[in-house]
Amino acid sequence: MIAAMRPEILYPLFAPIDTLKGVGPRVAPLLSKLAGPVVRDVAFLTPHSLIHRQPARVEAAVEGAVQTFVVTIEAYQAPRNPSQPWRVRAFDGTGSLTLVYFGGLGGRIEGQNPVGAQRLVSGKVERFGSEIQIAHPDYLVPVEKADQIPEVEAVYPATAGLPARTVRRLALDALGRCPDLAEWQDPAWLARQGWASWRESLARLHAPQSDADLTAQAPHRQRLAFDELLAHQLAMGQKKAERRAEPAPPIGAGRLAEALAAALPFQLTGAQSRALADIRADLACGERMSRLLQGDVGSGKTVVAMLAMADVAEARGQSALMAPTEILARQHFETLAAPLEAQGIAAVLLTGRDKGPARAEKLRALASGAVQVAVGTHALFQTDVVFHDLRLTVIDEQHRFGVAERQRLQAKGQATHLLAMSATPIPRTLELTVFGDLDVSRIDEKPPGRTPVATRAIPMGRMAEVEGRLKSVVATGAQAFWICPLVSESEKTDLAAAERRAAELRERIGPSVGLVHGKMPGPEKDAVMARFAQGELSVLVATTVVEVGVNVPNATIMVIEQAERFGLAQLHQLRGRVGRGKAESACVLLYDPPLSETGQKRLDILRRTDDGFLIAERDLELRGGGDPLGLRQSGFPAYVFADPISHRDLIAAAGDDARLILARDPDLTSSRGQALRVLQALFDWQAQSTLQDAG
Ligand code: ADP
Ligand code: MG
Repeated sequence: MIAAMRPEILYPLFAPIDTLKGVGPRVAPLLSKLAGPVVRDVAFLTPHSLIHRQPARVEAAVEGAVQTFVVTIEAYQAPRNPSQPWRVRAFDGTGSLTLVYFGGLGGRIEGQNPVGAQRLVSGKVERFGSEIQIAHPDYLVPVEKADQIPEVEAVYPATAGLPARTVRRLALDALGRCPDLAEWQDPAWLARQGWASWRESLARLHAPQSDADLTAQAPHRQRLAFDELLAHQLAMGQKKAERRAEPAPPIGAGRLAEALAAALPFQLTGAQSRALADIRADLACGERMSRLLQGDVGSGKTVVAMLAMADVAEARGQSALMAPTEILARQHFETLAAPLEAQGIAAVLLTGRDKGPARAEKLRALASGAVQVAVGTHALFQTDVVFHDLRLTVIDEQHRFGVAERQRLQAKGQATHLLAMSATPIPRTLELTVFGDLDVSRIDEKPPGRTPVATRAIPMGRMAEVEGRLKSVVATGAQAFWICPLVSESEKTDLAAAERRAAELRERIGPSVGLVHGKMPGPEKDAVMARFAQGELSVLVATTVVEVGVNVPNATIMVIEQAERFGLAQLHQLRGRVGRGKAESACVLLYDPPLSETGQKRLDILRRTDDGFLIAERDLELRGGGDPLGLRQSGFPAYVFADPISHRDLIAAAGDDARLILARDPDLTSSRGQALRVLQALFDWQAQSTLQDAG
């Protein structure tokens, strides 16, 4: 669909990369891996450093520097066997220089550079004993062609078989195919920022003159980042508007939910009430809801969802709550079924384990409308599952589902309201980029009566002491999680480490130590979890699979091995698994010394605060753009130019700009609107944003 809408002026940029000069069957896959499948991707490659070539004399050659010499070719020395290099002796009156060529290139070099010829040679200087060498010089050209050797040269990312200089040549070729495009930014804003046109900015990207040009703050980099952010914000804004435009019959706040709330053993927190009010306003307004319920582990999202489902049931609609794992689905069902049924609302649990007649019976009940609430896993959106009138889908741990999966479930109803839930706190500054197409309600207040979890960082060397302490508290009836990280490349090795730890703890503490890991078959995993939940096991050793959201109120101790390897948000979520009751809870962060300064700071943050959003914010700052993996996990889009930290202000500005633009020109038909469509097509956002898109 997007391809069909692509403006003609962009065709050259979306041509396959093998239309670039020198890109054949060997290079194409390498380049595609490095950049992407089309010319645009190559034009968007960003150089990461600069080479300053200094003219020098051989006597003043500096090992490791990239230098240019004027030399006379003196002699060729062919290799004795093909695995050895050709060696070319050259001199410049102050000393001699050896050029080294592997791979049988010598013959051709000799043809072009006969003995006695004067040449400019440039490359990285190496020294072997007293010999000065350049292996595979970057340039070897006649002196009159000095202009072929740039003084500063951008260095591009490279990959085995595709050297940086080839990438540079290809990037410049791709740049040459970039047309001038009509300006899509507001001229006043451009002037204020001191930004050049898109084409000029891109040209500057490929012709950096100084190290400052390589930074995210360079004006051309900011411009390109802002373009990208604006394209994305527009796409998300449009998506949101599109969903809004779909009418959905209003659902009012009902009596059942009120009775349900009154029967709860607790009062909703202020934050829960506010979130519920947001949801109810959405359900009542006659448009389709797309709302994200953000709240830390244990903040009480499920109850809020349950009350919304009660409203839907009272309006004679059905709801589906989908969780990423069997364990979680089961736990949700156990929480919800009884209170709902007490109000006459029937609920079923549907997971992959339902088979045969029992499953058929559940499906019949959903199809007939006899059941109003379905709780389950992926099993909920299988083809043969039919709802009588699905009006609300609730997605728990929304980031663990793909767009297609969420859409398949939503497609089982008409203009189905979406309530996504997430316990991964993301910094406010990034909320826009990740959830720009959703409305967000935050539960930023924990239910009362929780005691803060005492958190300590302890070096691995004091493991025995930790085990001893654990033994004595377990003897008093406490329960503990013990998390082993996934650290090695091989799952087998990690698993072995977890098994060893479990065995060791069993030896020290006793037989009530269980083990769960990702490789276990579902039923077996559930069985161990159930034994832990019922208190038969006192220590649960786990690879990181202790499912987010699993509730074991009696567990009061969380030990995390090699805590420095985890993302802060993940540590925070793991810690959130304890401290759910009145009893004092503890979290022990075992680390491998020495900790880096950043490592130290990161663990310190956890010790000092329990506010997931604050932790996420600090984590982002400390990460300083490193660890993109952590960001990916929190759903940050794979931007080419925009950086979540350096371009924070631009993210906010792009969000504001997109809102203004769409308010004035929702279909982008004005002349600026037309230019903006080209921008969107240029970045192809709808195709790329599959991860974040709530569907
Ligand atoms: P989340 O899904 O946000 O991690 P849950 O919905 O599983 O959190 O709630 C965690 C626990 O807190 C549950 O045992 C729930 O019954 C309890 N809870 C929820 N809201 C409140 C409240 N307002 N007061 C006291 N306890 C609450
Ligand atoms: Mg939950």
